Amino acid sequence: MLRLYNTLTKQVDEIQTIEPGKVRMYTCGPTVYRYAHIGNLRTYMMADWIRRALEIEGNQVYHVKNITDVGHMRQELVEAGGDKMIMAALAEGKTIQEIAQFYADSFHQDEARVNILPAHVYPWATQHIPEMISLVERLMANGYAYLAGGNVYFDVPQFAKYGNLSRNFGGNLLEGVRAEADPLKRDPRDFTLWKAAEPGRDVKWDSPWGEGFPGWHIECSAMAHKYLGEHFDLHTGGVDNVFPHHEDEIAQSEGAFGDTHVNYWVHGQHLLADGAKMAKSSGNVFLLDDLVARGIDPLSFRYLCLTVRYRHRMNFTFNSLKASEKALSNLRNRVWEWKNLPELAELPPETEEWREKFWNAVENDLDLPTGLALTWDMVRSGLPGQAKLSLLLDFDRLFGLDLHQVPAQYQVPELVVAALGRRSAFREQVNYSTADTLRAELASSGYVVQDTPQVTRIRPKTPLEQLEARWHWVSSSREVDSALDAPDRYDFTFILNAYNYAEDVQRCVTAMRAFAQGFTAEIIVIDNGSTDDTAEWLEEYQGLDPDFQVIHCDHVIGDAAGKNIGLKLSRGKHIVILDASTELTGDVLGPIARQLSDESVGIFGPYGLTTDDMQHFHEEVEKGEADAMQAYCMAFRREAVNKVGLMHEGFRFYRNLDIDYCFQFKEKGYRVLADSSLPMVRHEHRQWTELEDGQRDEMSRKNFGRFLRRWGNRPDLLISAGARGFETGFHH
Ligand code: AMP
Ligand code: ZN
Repeated sequence: MLRLYNTLTKQVDEIQTIEPGKVRMYTCGPTVYRYAHIGNLRTYMMADWIRRALEIEGNQVYHVKNITDVGHMRQELVEAGGDKMIMAALAEGKTIQEIAQFYADSFHQDEARVNILPAHVYPWATQHIPEMISLVERLMANGYAYLAGGNVYFDVPQFAKYGNLSRNFGGNLLEGVRAEADPLKRDPRDFTLWKAAEPGRDVKWDSPWGEGFPGWHIECSAMAHKYLGEHFDLHTGGVDNVFPHHEDEIAQSEGAFGDTHVNYWVHGQHLLADGAKMAKSSGNVFLLDDLVARGIDPLSFRYLCLTVRYRHRMNFTFNSLKASEKALSNLRNRVWEWKNLPELAELPPETEEWREKFWNAVENDLDLPTGLALTWDMVRSGLPGQAKLSLLLDFDRLFGLDLHQVPAQYQVPELVVAALGRRSAFREQVNYSTADTLRAELASSGYVVQDTPQVTRIRPKTPLEQLEARWHWVSSSREVDSALDAPDRYDFTFILNAYNYAEDVQRCVTAMRAFAQGFTAEIIVIDNGSTDDTAEWLEEYQGLDPDFQVIHCDHVIGDAAGKNIGLKLSRGKHIVILDASTELTGDVLGPIARQLSDESVGIFGPYGLTTDDMQHFHEEVEKGEADAMQAYCMAFRREAVNKVGLMHEGFRFYRNLDIDYCFQFKEKGYRVLADSSLPMVRHEHRQWTELEDGQRDEMSRKNFGRFLRRWGNRPDLLISAGARGFETGFHH
């Protein structure tokens, strides 16, 4: 019998259903004003595995997953500066409902692509406002809610069990509640059930308390009640839902109906990327489409999620994703092979032993990693292929990797079949070299030929196999060997970190070549996870320019890591880092070479900054000493990189990385010099202007924090320190 960790009891509980053979289950669903990211999908996949396990045990599962489309989201977004995508859609005349429908459709597609079984009902919040209102009325009648200033609040001190789920009591609890003190609340823990509409709000509903809109948590209590009743079996969500969302849902539902709301609460841990929770505000969000754009099969992401227990955080990397794609491909190849075997009259008795071992393992708090390890042990065991096939397809009812859909024969064009026939003939004549040439030809037209002792089979390459055959990809700067100790090969190395905006990249590169006369110069472009046609253009250009190289990163590895790849590969005496928004308009290399011939100069460029307090940096240096150089254009001697080191890869976003790197130079005693008359121009910096306000503030703030932690106590490195006769240390 399936056992799961129950957040309510803080232990692994056996799942005993309220009604025998029936499971009623609720999953907190998506907010449909943005795309669901792969972290969200991980949490929905956990619910899917639980549902499959319960169904395989013979239960009939009724699964409800809500769609959060509450219109007040719009107001919040407008207040927060506005989500660009939504604002653009509204400007185009789309209604808020159409926008929600668009994201909901995309969510359903994503669920289908990773094989999440569709819920039986997907109730939309805005279609259940009357249910929410009657629930609030009930809470008022039961003495769990009060009206204040047109708002209705839940009266937390009345509900003795408050805090049981999250174990947030007293002081802890207050920390959990954001300190936006609402003077209308009787107790700071009280939360909003219904909020009065402020003047000018257009998304609002009538209620017994006047026009307004529902609080955040009431929708799940109302919809769960409508579709699953007062008391049901299982509720899932991500760990961030435990408090306050689920704590408040319990208070509302139990306050209204008296009964226990839910028996088992199961929460999935977060998906991280680069060590941080995947979230829009961290700038580390990947969508399923981002994986597909890089040739990854969405089911490889499903496989990857099988490798980590749902209660553990999982760090997402493209390397592990590719390893999962290889493993999944491998399983598919086995199925392909086994499907071609003759049927066996009887499977050996060990087959049942494997089956038992597997289901025992996964019943234990959904231990899919152990289930997967057992699967591989079984696949590598001495069982006959037919038994392996039967077991694998059985296990895949839980995994959901669609292995039953692998064909015994792939459909390939006649010409390919003919080529394969010719190759077999050569092999029979022991003419292996001609056979190998034919295999290579088939490979370059997109087919993989596989020989086994019995047969030769052929299948189309996967999208990833096709992409990998075309280009070389790296996943981190560590994969690139440093040439910093190697002798100079050019006068200059231009480094450009490219991320989308193909036209900007073209303009920048074309101008580098146009204004490098009189010097030898190489160009290194890091394609930092572009998803538009930047990568294609760079590949094409590389074919035309012998001193040009492009390095493709299989995802956005971050600004510092990208530039470090450029630094490691560079072979120019001088390095010039440019941003794609810039364009050279004349000879900049001459002045750079002259300035950098002075060994005391570390960094030179046109866009110098100064500061008095490390807090505010001003772009005011026309000519002379600066505190830092902006990354639109910064030049230094390659030899200096060995002294100051590479860039700090904590800076994924570009902002303040330039200042940080300049301080590395200053710490080693180098000067930073500016000359704003260098012949170049700056165009719109789309990496900045096309970010949403909220996101760019958040990312800038994080990077500024990184900079200050490193250099905040080193005002002695500032040029003003010299003027002030700064001595040592820093005193507040
Ligand atoms: P939201 O659309 O923000 O309400 O999130 C939908 C679901 O995804 C919720 O159950 C969240 O707890 C969950 N979730 C949010 N971020 C992550 C993440 N990085 N990893 C896993 N689950 C997440
Ligand atoms: Zn919910």
